[in-house]
Amino acid sequence: MNILITGGAGFIGSHLCKMFLTRGHSVICVDNFITGSRENVKEFLPNRRFKLIEHDIATALYVTQGLDWVLHFASIASPNAYLSEPIKTLKSGLLGTYNCLGIAKAKKAKFLLASTSEIYGDPCIHPQTEEYWGNVNPIGTRSCYDESKRGAEALTYAYQRQHGVNIRVVRIFNTYGPNMQADDGRVVSNFIVQALQNQPLTIYGKGNQTRSFCYVDDLIQGIAKTMGADYTLPINLGNPGEFTVRELAQLVIRLTKSRSTIQFFELPQDDPKRRRPDIRKAKKILGFKPRVTLTQGLKKTIAYFRKKLG
Ligand code: NAD
Ligand code: UDP
Repeated sequence: MNILITGGAGFIGSHLCKMFLTRGHSVICVDNFITGSRENVKEFLPNRRFKLIEHDIATALYVTQGLDWVLHFASIASPNAYLSEPIKTLKSGLLGTYNCLGIAKAKKAKFLLASTSEIYGDPCIHPQTEEYWGNVNPIGTRSCYDESKRGAEALTYAYQRQHGVNIRVVRIFNTYGPNMQADDGRVVSNFIVQALQNQPLTIYGKGNQTRSFCYVDDLIQGIAKTMGADYTLPINLGNPGEFTVRELAQLVIRLTKSRSTIQFFELPQDDPKRRRPDIRKAKKILGFKPRVTLTQGLKKTIAYFRKKLG
């Protein structure tokens, strides 16, 4: 198959490129490197089945070859980046999705949107099921990211209804692993980098807020299964193991054998208090079963950053 992956030089995108190349497919990676890196895709460049296009997907892209799948992962998902570039974040999420749906329509390709648990906002139900409509502040500092993904979902279903595009939507919950950027700003990479440098770990708020962390290898299996299944409604993908941010900090300090202490900072606006995916749909429809525990996944991620930081 010919598979176009936007955001393919990012964290999750680069793992998808690798998986589909290993399975014998051809991959076209589209990225503008705003938060991704060439380093993430360097190993694929000699492969004749891999093509890298440097392009901002918020502007139209004309692809000459036939495509079987369009996987839209380009987005500004790093909190550091979306707080400093809110307009580009909205453009990637909205115009980028619009352009990718146009490509999928023209090529009669199957389209997948990488949506997010952020569409549930600061959720009023726990754990979050796909039927929940969410609790999002439409004008807060996170809204550029959250609302761009909610708009992206709306666009995706509009293309399904009006143009019959064959769509898939996955709502991804906090995923981590090798190929994250050290300065990304997300909690797992922040804590690991801080611990490896024996710097204080920066907890926002009291650290009682919870997240459920999925190792990237489990996630990409779920994405491949989603493409193979005949199910077009949104589907949660993540690992339901739920931890407080303080528990995560303590675990990272222990696994890195760090001398770091913990420092507390102000909680960012609209920071969700609790998050855990209800993955019964993914289990039943896809046979999705996350296998990597937080300790196992952190050990692999710590090894990656240890090497990267030298
Ligand atoms: P990432 O920042 O590592 O990857 C995003 C990639 O998209 C980067 O390579 C970036 O350069 C590229 N990009 C951004 N805007 C672009 C544009 N306009 N044109 C072309 N390329 C552009 O982040 P990630 O964690 O790998 O996220 C990948 C996708 O998964 C995103 O859509 C994100 O919203 C979604 N997601 C991730 C998580 C997670 O926990 N990692 C959770 C929910 C959803
Ligand atoms: N967080 C933290 N310290 C950091 C980075 C993040 O305490 O250095 C907190 C953040 O406030 C949130 C949680 O960790 O409550 C997860 O943050 P992240 O940005 O990784 O993901 P999201 O909030 O989008 O789930």
